[in-house]
Amino acid sequence: MYISKNIETLRFSVIREMSQLAAGLEDVITLGIGEPDFDTPAPIIDRAFADAVNGHTHYTPSQGDPELLEKLSASLSKERGRFIPPSAILVTHGAMNGLAAAFRTLLEPGDEVIVIEPHFPDYLAHILFAHGKIVPVATSFDAGFIPDPAAIEAAVTDNTRVILVNSPNNPTGAVMPVQTLEQIAKIARDNDLAVISDEVYDRISFEGAPPSIYNLPGMAQRTLVVNSFSKTYAMTGWRIGFTFGPQEVISQLIKVVNYSTACASSVGQRAAIAALDLAPGVLGGMASRFEKRVDLVCSRLEAMPGVRVKRPRGSFYVFVDISELSMGSREFALALLENEKLVVVPGYAFGASCDGCIRMACTLPKDRLSSAMDRLERFLESRMGK
Ligand code: PMP
Repeated sequence: MYISKNIETLRFSVIREMSQLAAGLEDVITLGIGEPDFDTPAPIIDRAFADAVNGHTHYTPSQGDPELLEKLSASLSKERGRFIPPSAILVTHGAMNGLAAAFRTLLEPGDEVIVIEPHFPDYLAHILFAHGKIVPVATSFDAGFIPDPAAIEAAVTDNTRVILVNSPNNPTGAVMPVQTLEQIAKIARDNDLAVISDEVYDRISFEGAPPSIYNLPGMAQRTLVVNSFSKTYAMTGWRIGFTFGPQEVISQLIKVVNYSTACASSVGQRAAIAALDLAPGVLGGMASRFEKRVDLVCSRLEAMPGVRVKRPRGSFYVFVDISELSMGSREFALALLENEKLVVVPGYAFGASCDGCIRMACTLPKDRLSSAMDRLERFLESRMGK
């Protein structure tokens, strides 16, 4: 059969490929896929199951279960200090479906999306599926992976339609300072661009609530915020996300959900309702456990030869500079797997400018992370000694 060039040339996810290479090997430690190792809190599971037994097993409206939309409206309005009505919110099959809907709604073929590197690899595929073009803007280790607004401005062309912002960032854990967001917001306003703000790690932040570009003056009219229950509530498999923004844009996004997934899973949405009712303490606990793990990993890395690390301010990732080893990130990751049975994600997955780095997800208990660091240290010592 003929395969479309778009699909044929798209590479499989490097993150999933690394996990597949490790499958079947004994005693592997994996710092690959970015998902919380915690199980979904029991009260969420119990409520979702009870609701399923009570008949919540049918299609919901494409926009979402009305009860979930109401609850999201209440919690977002409180959090943002402005009324965000249910009509400005869309429930999606994970944040992934929100991103897909956003790009398909905002882009004409050939339109450009400015994406700050390093970036979540899946953006590339979603922009491609919408026949758009990704325009990467590189950052640097020394700048803490915070973009230079002048570089963003220089990347704007007549075809630019969207600037994508992801803070706290996957893979670096960097949180964009409000001053940088203000400068990006100005570029968006001056050039009449839309902003997609991917905030899936907003609750895993080590220095209070991270600033959001949506909250800046004049930005609520031109920003779509993409979020998810996946990371915040350890609910990756339930596949529930949500997107909010200008009501007239959300009403267009609904069509994409309508014709692609019909609606998000009804039982998953009941779980999300339960999650919003959960005592905040349960969640704070998760974020501080991630912070302690990230601290442990960074302290160990700071004492190792050949690598540099910037402490993340959110998420559960650590992005390590390995450029001193003069080997590509793929070669490094494969050798580490072969010699030490340790899975990390090679940096090139996050953009062409990231081949001097690797990503580690701190989603294992501390004792496993300590063993992982022992393995990495041994590997680095053997390489540096050569
Ligand atoms: N955005 C970012 C930055 C992510 O890291 C991920 C998941 N790894 C997603 C979106 C998608 O999350 P979801 O599980 O809600 O589809």
